[in-house]
Amino acid sequence: MQSKLFIANWKMQKTFAESIDFCSSNLSALKKLSAQTDTEIVLCPSFPVIYSLNEQLADTMVHVGAQNCSPYISGAYTGQVSAQSLKEIGCNYCIVGHSEQRKYENVTDKDVAMAAKNLCDQEIEPIICIGETEEQFQKNEAINALESQLDFVLSALKNTKQPITIAYEPVWAIGTGVVPESAYLKKIFQHLSAIFSNVHSGPWRLIYGGSVSEKTMSSFKDIPSLAGFLVGSASLDFPKFEKIVLLGK
Ligand code: PEP
Repeated sequence: MQSKLFIANWKMQKTFAESIDFCSSNLSALKKLSAQTDTEIVLCPSFPVIYSLNEQLADTMVHVGAQNCSPYISGAYTGQVSAQSLKEIGCNYCIVGHSEQRKYENVTDKDVAMAAKNLCDQEIEPIICIGETEEQFQKNEAINALESQLDFVLSALKNTKQPITIAYEPVWAIGTGVVPESAYLKKIFQHLSAIFSNVHSGPWRLIYGGSVSEKTMSSFKDIPSLAGFLVGSASLDFPKFEKIVLLGK
């Protein structure tokens, strides 16, 4: 049985001290939750926390991931963090192309593809976020929007044999409490699944993100190829995150 992936995206919501405290306060529960063979848990704190969190969680099966990575390998790129540095501090996963990065940092589809390639070269699993905007959703343009976000990614990663994860995150569902209807999700997952089965040669999986909570988990039953969840605000509180893992595995 393939395990389900649960990624906590803490964004810039927890300070260094709060992130450390989250893990020390819940260490034994995190150990127990991550020891189950049907779950894979990844916590993505801010960059400065990654190294310490990894040390703190060394006795557990919890992984630590980053929230972004530079499209460049190295050089004069003030403020950016390379895939190699992430590898050296023990990062096994990294979110790229989150809609907040696309919106506030003008990250492009090409940047996302380059960052994902750099991560694969460092054997870090990229969590590649794609999703239509509210306007694209209203105009029935989701499939076109997703395909165009994936163009560069598919060509940049065509020869990689490293595992990749695609996180379908409709922008209109992030932080809104609204989740897509089941029929809509099924259609999107079927379509994405067909693209990756036909075009991508390495291992891949599809996950969903956007207002995942213990209240919305029932909406995600029977979605084909759904291999896990990217969780934002509900991952900041351990009991809520734990409930999501137990309901979704
Ligand atoms: C996200 O930003 O990736 C996300 C899924 O947020 P939320 O769960 O808060 O909608």
